[in-house]
Amino acid sequence: MSHLETLHFFENALLQFDEAAHILNLSENQVAVMREPRRITEANLPIRMDDGSVQIFKAFRVQHNIARGPAKGGIRFHQDVNLDEVKALAFLTTYKCAVVGIPMGGGKGGIVVNPSTLSTNELERLARRYMAELANLFGENKDVPAPDVGTNPANMGWMMDTYSMHNEEYLPAVITGKPLNIGGSGGRDEAAGLGALFCLREVAKWEGIQLTGARAAIQGFGNAGSWAAHFFAKEGMKIVAISDITGTYSSDAGIDIDAARAHSAAHKSLAGLEKALSLKHDSDPRKVLEYPCDILVPAALENQILVANAPNIRAHIIAEVANGPMTLAAHDILRERKIRVIPDILCNAGGVTVSYLEWVQNRMGFYWPKERVLNEAELIMKSATQNVLQAATDHKVTMRLAAFIVAIQRVAHAAEMRGLYA
Ligand code: NAD
Repeated sequence: MSHLETLHFFENALLQFDEAAHILNLSENQVAVMREPRRITEANLPIRMDDGSVQIFKAFRVQHNIARGPAKGGIRFHQDVNLDEVKALAFLTTYKCAVVGIPMGGGKGGIVVNPSTLSTNELERLARRYMAELANLFGENKDVPAPDVGTNPANMGWMMDTYSMHNEEYLPAVITGKPLNIGGSGGRDEAAGLGALFCLREVAKWEGIQLTGARAAIQGFGNAGSWAAHFFAKEGMKIVAISDITGTYSSDAGIDIDAARAHSAAHKSLAGLEKALSLKHDSDPRKVLEYPCDILVPAALENQILVANAPNIRAHIIAEVANGPMTLAAHDILRERKIRVIPDILCNAGGVTVSYLEWVQNRMGFYWPKERVLNEAELIMKSATQNVLQAATDHKVTMRLAAFIVAIQRVAHAAEMRGLYA
């Protein structure tokens, strides 16, 4: 996500936040505390490069709100990371955790670096130095980071090791998204795609729509989109169109998703899929959004559904797996057209939910089979979706606004019950 896109997406979220706070009659004091980050840390990390030179990398950690539990949120390695972006993402994580009801607050971190320009050894020194420098902030009951854009399980493993070495004990719960053999959790890979299905099931029930035989179109065929396609197909839906950066691939008869996933894994993209599976191909990746279907899943990028294409959307339900895939103006058009939108902070919260379940397992020292992890995630996502649908009905608002109402109410209650320590 580029800097401008994140901020645009953040401004939209702030508008929803303010509207929800108004509906809930929150006081100015409550709003001020819930909007602003609790703590911002900035550091300059000196790293010895392989050629013997020393480079300084700017690093951040923002803890937005910890009223409901330790801060939770990824660490991003990207050349465009900046404090405004990290603050925006920390804010959103507070409300994402609250809407699904997991007992954590919101945080986010980042290092200004293009990780592809560093050797593995340089990356390891950078990840370890970040954790060592900010070690006082982190802890299983304080702040629990995770991977994000540009970071992966191996990086989390180094950070967990650094923290454990400093404290002279094994402390896996300080960070999630670790490799499986050092305290990672089964189910993390598929969590975002499967979580979307858990939400969709509840919405379909609410709307009286049968998912078996429903036609779905999915934009983006990376981690989140391809898993969503897999689970939707398993549910009996017909996936009629998919897309990635190489274009839109469609078939009214339905696409063999296992074959498409195998193709994408082998070729690192969907290019050539039209020949392999006899599909129609359009080089425009946005065509998928206007494809006739019942369920549309934007799972690629921000700002894909705009005022220009919102009137052409043919789906009845849109499940936002990507973060910020539509503008608020487009959302208004869809609301008028009575198209149900399952908002990103709920629909893609499967990832953070399984991160939470990793933390739970680390604290118990008792590891569950993947099926158990996914069953627990299902209970959490199902009840969160029901709560949001109920709030949408009670307040006569969209699910997006209802998600903020549910989330803000939880954070405000926690803050009120804890009171101010002064
Ligand atoms: P990814 O990098 O694995 O995949 C992105 C996909 O989008 C690729 O298939 C790429 O080809 C495609 N794409 C890029 N530009 C496109 C375009 N213009 N049109 C159509 N497709 C395009 O990323 P991901 O992890 O799958 O994440 C996708 C979205 O889901 C992001 O917004 C991310 O923040 C959100 N998300 C992901 C997770 C997760 O656990 N993976 C969790 C929560 C939210």
